[in-house]
Amino acid sequence: MEREQYLAAIKPRMPEKRYIHTIGVMETAIELAKKYGEEEKKAETAAILHDIAKYAEIEWMENIVRAEKLDARLLGWGSELLHGPVGAYIAESEFALTDEDMLNAIRFHTTGRAGMSRLEKIIFVADMIEPNRKFDGVDRLRKKAEKGLDKAMSACVRHTLAFLIDTKQPIYPLSIECYNDMMKRED
Ligand code: GDP
Ligand code: FE
Ligand code: FE
Ligand code: FE
Repeated sequence: MEREQYLAAIKPRMPEKRYIHTIGVMETAIELAKKYGEEEKKAETAAILHDIAKYAEIEWMENIVRAEKLDARLLGWGSELLHGPVGAYIAESEFALTDEDMLNAIRFHTTGRAGMSRLEKIIFVADMIEPNRKFDGVDRLRKKAEKGLDKAMSACVRHTLAFLIDTKQPIYPLSIECYNDMMKRED
């Protein structure tokens, strides 16, 4: 499928604001792919599909977790944690995506994980720094993305965890594993 077909397919499944965010992630992911030597088409498609499950019903997503034997720890964490793994399921089952790296980029775009690929990092970082994002510290993260993909990934995961701690939210195990992994790489 081509870009316009994917975009037409996702548009009716989300509010306008999320669609605009998705376009921003797509453009940012393509830029990062050019800069860091990833296949642009893979970054483009993974970015377009990354939030495909964002507005799916929680009961339906929990049923997918059970039926597809996804990580059972996801049950009880709510739609913010479910929409990545369930998004990867939709990408595979509905959009016939087979590339495991692209599926993982969608699957782990919210939490990250230890041992992320270049494409996974590109989608994670693009999701946080795309031009429509407006939060304190986003410009610093954008600057990190100019300096190096690991530097940006590291700063992004630290920002997310600091935010979760500040707002007294529980941290999903994969998010901590991602943080630990990135800190081991810091020089
Ligand atoms: P979005 O879908 O484009 O809004 O962005 P993400 O998929 O990256 O994140 C969705 C939400 O999940 C954000 O509000 C994050 O703060 C939140 N989130 C990310 N990691 C964790 C985690 O480990 N625990 C919890 N409770 N929330 C998380
Ligand atoms: Fe998301
Ligand atoms: Fe994210
Ligand atoms: Fe997103």
